[in-house]
Amino acid sequence: MTAYDKLAAHIAEYHDLLCILNTLKWDMRTMMPASGASSRGRQLATLTRHAKSIFVSDDTARLLDAAENEVASADSDSYRARALRQSRDAYEIQRRIPSDLVARMAALGAESEAVWAKAKDENDFVSFKPYLSQMLALNIELADAIGYEDHPFDALILQFEPGMTAARLHRIFAELKAGILPLLERIVAVEAPLVVDLWEAEYDLAAQKQLCRELTALIGFDYDRGRLDSAPHPFEISFTRDDVRITTRYDANYLPMSLFAALHEAGHGLYEQNIAPKLTRTALTADFLGQYAVGGASYGAHEFSSRLWENQIGRSREFWRRHFGRLQAAFPQQMAAADAEYFYQAVNRVRPSLIRVEADEVTYNLHIMLRTEIEMALLEGAIAVDDLPDVWNAKIQEYLGLTPPDDRRGVLQDVHWSFGGFGNFPTYTIGNIMAAQVLAAAHKQMPDLAAQLADGDYQKLLTWLTENIYRHGRAYRADELLARVTGESLNTAALLAYLENKYSDLYGVN
Ligand code: ZN
Repeated sequence: MTAYDKLAAHIAEYHDLLCILNTLKWDMRTMMPASGASSRGRQLATLTRHAKSIFVSDDTARLLDAAENEVASADSDSYRARALRQSRDAYEIQRRIPSDLVARMAALGAESEAVWAKAKDENDFVSFKPYLSQMLALNIELADAIGYEDHPFDALILQFEPGMTAARLHRIFAELKAGILPLLERIVAVEAPLVVDLWEAEYDLAAQKQLCRELTALIGFDYDRGRLDSAPHPFEISFTRDDVRITTRYDANYLPMSLFAALHEAGHGLYEQNIAPKLTRTALTADFLGQYAVGGASYGAHEFSSRLWENQIGRSREFWRRHFGRLQAAFPQQMAAADAEYFYQAVNRVRPSLIRVEADEVTYNLHIMLRTEIEMALLEGAIAVDDLPDVWNAKIQEYLGLTPPDDRRGVLQDVHWSFGGFGNFPTYTIGNIMAAQVLAAAHKQMPDLAAQLADGDYQKLLTWLTENIYRHGRAYRADELLARVTGESLNTAALLAYLENKYSDLYGVN
């Protein structure tokens, strides 16, 4: 056995533990009774500690040294060399993080997530506050342990989006605001009321589920290697490329909720299912630093895939021209007064709203900026947890002109802070930006792509994405992937052009 193979076997074992942790998390968010939260928290903490002790160990240090000596002369661009670099980078960062801190975060996270769910239900920020304060303190400890030059946020986002910094995000956000706010102003000024309100009707949940399955299978999600369940906060999680779980949630009146969450999570699932088989159980599918064992390049890169399939494909006029018949077959009465164009307009209605996960494509990134700016200010100590509801309400007023009637629809709406996911929110906006850049490149490279998408044929796009992005797993950083595929670095031009074209046409505000 070569030194590299010995390291690979060691990493594979660690990888297995990460996937078992994922199984526990999947169960926690789909099946587990709420009463299980505290014992599940201890189970997660125990297993997390064991996993970490395998990775941050003298064994790993020795195996890494030996493998590096052996691979030194090999092609520096090979998967082998890249896996080695990933392992080394992760090891150097992981060993700075005390394992008792990891365990404390895991234990608090499970309990805090349960407290948050109840607090949200009961509109009771005060009961969640001590947990959030502790979680913030742990995140500050984590940032200090990882280390940073300019901003604690830089250390935390490293877990999700290596290469991104608070300073870079400030620049990106400024560009986005400059493009989005004037567009939104033009749209809101002309918005005509909908003639029929499709979301007053009732949509049978079993029929919704069937439709979610149909549409996700249509874009290529492989149900022989995955499944769809329901969860109050939809997510995708994978145990390897051969077992990918997606979830959605159902509202009897609001059909778009289940459909677009399913397409979104299936977009994540497509990434995982199309990673090259030879990368399974290697460093190139292990998320050594993040919290979900994501196999893709980064969280932003993962979000590029979910948003591309949910929005740029799933919310396109072509998609519903092609598939409106399915919708009508499932819901003949509810859709009696609608046609494809009407449905397209209804699911692309732009209006400032309170809830991030229901936000349209134009306002969505404003919700992300608000959260990210608040996180940065919390980490800086510029605002206190006590002030959060007020700060939140002031910011949403500033960006969207709205005042939340309660904290449930304000500061309590997202799960992320409860389990400690600080640094994670901007990956959604990075995903939106990447999706626009990548799809523009795909159209440039495949002039017949538009015609195929209009025909409801998604195979060519899926193959191209697999070839250029998915199959590589974590071998390339998001920046490297973008440069390889588009020749550009992350920039907002394609996203702003996409929004401008789509919505100035929809609202006649050229
Ligand atoms: Zn997502």
